[in-house]
Amino acid sequence: MVNIKFRNEKSKIFTPLDPRWDEFTDSLCFHLNIRECEDCGGPVTNCDGSFRLTRNIIESHYPEINIQKTLDYFRTMNCFCDCEIFFEQPCGLGVDQKDAAMKIGKAS
Ligand SMILES: [Zn+2]
Repeated sequence: MVNIKFRNEKSKIFTPLDPRWDEFTDSLCFHLNIRECEDCGGPVTNCDGSFRLTRNIIESHYPEINIQKTLDYFRTMNCFCDCEIFFEQPCGLGVDQKDAAMKIGKAS
């Protein structure tokens, strides 16, 4: 009966197709605290080059999501840290990537 333990294994990948994606990117935007660099005028964020914020948001708000698979998915979309998920498009990933997300969603 060891398998019972794994019945509720987190298996979902979080993609722009999820109805909560906009809510997620809003939350990510808030935690990134995007502001203007005083020296160059470019955008400055709280991103530390990792998926730290993304991981925190998903862990606390989307418990059924498999974080490892989701981060792997983001990497295949050329997003390698929190701010890249956000800056890839104003509101998250672009249309082409939504198509790719759909294919991944179907494959899984
Ligand atoms: Zn970054």
